[in-house]
Amino acid sequence: MIDLHSHSNISDGLFSPTELVAHAAEHGVNVLALTDHDDISGLSEASQAARLHGIQLINGVEISVTWKKRTLHIVGLNIDVDNEALKTELASVRQSRLDRARQMASGLEKSGIHGSFEGASAYAKQSILTRMHFARFLVEHKYAKDPKSVFKKYLVKGKPGFVDHQWMDLESAVSLIVNAGGVAVLAHPGRYDIRRTNMLLLLEEFRALGGSAIEVVTGSHTAAQYVEYAKYAQLFGLKASQGSDYHGKGISFMEMGRLPALPSGCVPVWQDWADIQGLSSVQKLPNVQ
Ligand code: AMP
Ligand code: MN
Ligand code: MN
Ligand code: MN
Repeated sequence: MIDLHSHSNISDGLFSPTELVAHAAEHGVNVLALTDHDDISGLSEASQAARLHGIQLINGVEISVTWKKRTLHIVGLNIDVDNEALKTELASVRQSRLDRARQMASGLEKSGIHGSFEGASAYAKQSILTRMHFARFLVEHKYAKDPKSVFKKYLVKGKPGFVDHQWMDLESAVSLIVNAGGVAVLAHPGRYDIRRTNMLLLLEEFRALGGSAIEVVTGSHTAAQYVEYAKYAQLFGLKASQGSDYHGKGISFMEMGRLPALPSGCVPVWQDWADIQGLSSVQKLPNVQ
């Protein structure tokens, strides 16, 4: 079982990197990528835990990007964690997240919700502050019953806690990943509010910039979307990735170890990763119709 997208409490997951790896092992995962938002500092702990559990850890990251006024996520896999440019850029994203969090808190303050910056920070283990941390604070204080409704009521466009933040541009994110020796993967494409014409433009641009895969099977795609994005991958000669996007109990789309196989015709992103060849047969099947 290969799972190439997951979060620890270094970003907005609930488990520490060690606990996350143990959880993955218990659920039958044998290749795991830890892909915290804009932070790679959980990877050394995770790789130690992975050795202990006989899991292969893939060094990953999930970078937020602004493309045509939309927020997209680009996952980097097999990145060099010592790459200086990557470390410097991610540090600056974390700083901008902090500024954004203060603006979010002031928006919430205006609608009568006090102390959300401190409240959200209390859930953050490190410097990364995400909307998920605000969601947990708001649920704890009974502003909504669960993270899903909290997002809808407070944290999306047009709502008091939303800040129209400017993330990294697509070109910078892809080149940072590629220059750090990694593979750039467009995360959960089915989650963006993008019509077909723009999706075609995005995939064209992403590939031209050096992107090489898209997530086809992810916790937030429906079965129909697995097929849809398998076709997009094929159309653009992009490889296919799969990952649960696990964050922890109650805040995840899918439990670990439950990912279905990639649709036939997909070229797995791990196709030429020598060390995991033994774990999965390369799928060389007829084209998706
Ligand atoms: P941020 O990067 O700070 O905007 O936070 C985004 C994170 O919040 C995502 O990575 C998800 O973990 C979570 N998230 C975003 N939208 C939702 C939603 N509608 N329901 C639950 N969690 C969400
Ligand atoms: Mn998240
Ligand atoms: Mn994401
Ligand atoms: Mn994610």
